[in-house]
Amino acid sequence: KPLLEVDRLRKSFPHASTAAVERVSLALGEGELLALLGPSGCGKTTTLRMIGGFETPDEGTITFDGHDITGLPPEARGIGFVFQDYALFPHLSVLDNVRFGLRKLPRAQARSRAEEMLKLVGLSDLGRRRPHQLSGGQQQRVALARALAVAPQLILLDEPFSNLDAKMRIETRQEVRRLLKSTGSAGILVTHDQEEALALADRIAVMDGGRIVQLGTPDEIYRNPVSEFVANFIGRSNIVSGRAEGMNVHTPFGDLPMTRAANGSVSLAVRPEQIMLEADPNGAAVIVGREFRGHDQIYWVSKDETCFVVISGPGQDHPDGTRVNMRICDCVVPLT
Ligand code: ADP
Ligand code: MG
Repeated sequence: KPLLEVDRLRKSFPHASTAAVERVSLALGEGELLALLGPSGCGKTTTLRMIGGFETPDEGTITFDGHDITGLPPEARGIGFVFQDYALFPHLSVLDNVRFGLRKLPRAQARSRAEEMLKLVGLSDLGRRRPHQLSGGQQQRVALARALAVAPQLILLDEPFSNLDAKMRIETRQEVRRLLKSTGSAGILVTHDQEEALALADRIAVMDGGRIVQLGTPDEIYRNPVSEFVANFIGRSNIVSGRAEGMNVHTPFGDLPMTRAANGSVSLAVRPEQIMLEADPNGAAVIVGREFRGHDQIYWVSKDETCFVVISGPGQDHPDGTRVNMRICDCVVPLT
């Protein structure tokens, strides 16, 4: 039985022509980490706020731990929330911020639990400071410690890494995953960063225009995107057209296997790493640009007035203007 079940949530705001969230359904298992991923304005925060109780849905139900919580206020739900701006109390010390949610416990017990949480997030020495005396990454960890202190079965995180620089973001996201897995709390993480979702989540719900357009493991979503939107939002894709027949498709690159069956004329998504380049003076394609990245290289390749993006290993070296042949290996993805 899932820990959280969201059934056909809908929310529209006054004076908006379309709903902010439309028919959003999802289920979350105990201890599971789900990312809500999509471009700005697609309804991620609104979905999260409805689950947390900060926004009332127009339609739909939310079931948590076997109870219908759709109409309950946030504090009655037993769900933790980490806000995008952390929402720490500026006049309280770090320790008191973490202790805030533990007011119902006896004093000594609350104090030792708060100290334990600060230790867990690596901030034992900074308990007496005020939030403004901490770095962004440290404030983020205080917010997380505060939310985790009450040991919620579910914790909601809205773009928790957006105020951190690139390096901190990568370190902190693994830290957060480790913390959630070690406390056993399930989590829903809102992000517009596909790399973050792929790196962190057990499953990803991709949102577009208020709806979930695909829900699956990072691997499923990367390998088998359902639409051109998903194929381009998660990683990069080249779009090639072909004529499909069952599990195979006829393309300008020859006959290729597909990840799922289709028939008739189709658009296909081809990942940059699925294209092989072979230098050939009579090749039909030409290298028009490249970017050296150390562990691999990105090439831009022009063929029949179409530009392809190709990622190849460090061994290959094709200067601009080199004529090449392109070969596609592995399954390609038919798009709707
Ligand atoms: P995301 O978090 O994916 O960027 P949001 O859930 O914040 O998206 O917003 C979804 C849509 O709802 C947007 O078009 C946004 O402008 C609108 N919206 C969000 N909150 C409000 C609000 N309080 N009042 C009016 N419109 C809102
Ligand atoms: Mg948002």
